[in-house]
Amino acid sequence: MVIVAGGAGFIGHHLVRALREAKASVHVIDNFTTGDRSRLERLRRSEGERITVQHQDIALPAVLPAADVIFNLASPASPVHYQSNPIQTWKSNVLGTLTLLDHAIGCGARLVQASTSEIYGEPLSHPQKETDWGNVNPVGPRACYDESKRAAEALLMDAVRTADADIRIARIFNTYGPGMNADDGRVIPNFIAQAQADEPLTIHGDGNQTRSFCYVSDTVDGLMRLAALDAARGEIVNLGNPHEMTIRQIATTINQKFRRADNVILRPRPADDPSRRCPDTTKARHLLAWQPTISFEQGLHRMVTDAPIKASA
Ligand code: NAD
Ligand code: UDP
Repeated sequence: MVIVAGGAGFIGHHLVRALREAKASVHVIDNFTTGDRSRLERLRRSEGERITVQHQDIALPAVLPAADVIFNLASPASPVHYQSNPIQTWKSNVLGTLTLLDHAIGCGARLVQASTSEIYGEPLSHPQKETDWGNVNPVGPRACYDESKRAAEALLMDAVRTADADIRIARIFNTYGPGMNADDGRVIPNFIAQAQADEPLTIHGDGNQTRSFCYVSDTVDGLMRLAALDAARGEIVNLGNPHEMTIRQIATTINQKFRRADNVILRPRPADDPSRRCPDTTKARHLLAWQPTISFEQGLHRMVTDAPIKASA
């Protein structure tokens, strides 16, 4: 049995599908705050009893089934969402991770933690290696996410040292793909939804800040490899695509994809928005034999052509 906490979310439902393709029985735990129940209903129609769903906030006391592997993805990931209820973000990442850690130790399960490139904050090294300790504003508007994810990593590594827990931590960099909601707030679904509505693309600041976007099937493949490999016990690994782009370049590429003029509008840059972000993936290549396979152009094409973003209800 594999537990996926946050399995109704964007990455989570792709992971659930991949686990089912690998013939695992999957138990999803989700409170449906940013997740979408309909994603699972579609999967359950084809997979039936092999996917069970528990409506549960992992920050609250929970009775959970025994499992061999637990993936913890239960946290809002879009800045708009995690800042809209920062206290709940803290609870999800600190109390929620503690709930799943206790459960993993109790039933002898392996725990795979979805951490984030946000723990590097405004990076002091470039590209970011796992050995970078990060440069985070501990009291700014992003701290509810950055610092609670850092706290979760610290907690889990203490459990590795003192309780011999079977933990592995993925520091996931910006991931995109089909199934993101139009109201997600992150840059790729925002730009696609705006282009589809023939509105200007909203660039924050001058657009010279960079990100590196990984297609969701590559991220899911990395998570599955991290879960499967015995030698990954106690390891922290970056999962991301090292192809770095400015937000301005992304806007131009998406406007071109929709065959329209370079229609953009500049908006104020959010506080503490990191200026550069790119993973060093050496460790993932060596440890997991993993590297991204889908280029940005291929991923964007799949997202626009195969599964256009639907306007929110
Ligand atoms: P998402 O918001 O689409 O999915 C998160 C899921 O967790 C949702 O289904 C939500 O309802 C659920 N959830 C939130 N709090 C919960 C709680 N307390 N109890 C139970 N369920 C809860 O986000 P995503 O993009 O799929 O991200 C998944 C994970 O990956 C998150 O932990 C996120 O921090 C991490 N991550 C994602 C990215 C990315 O670019 N997508 C980058 C770095 C890290
Ligand atoms: N961004 C933007 N326009 C938008 C949404 C985001 O210019 O409509 C910028 C944002 O300020 C950041 C980058 O795009 O510099 C990536 O933002 P996102 O929210 O997708 O992820 P982050 O990496 O900040 O968590």
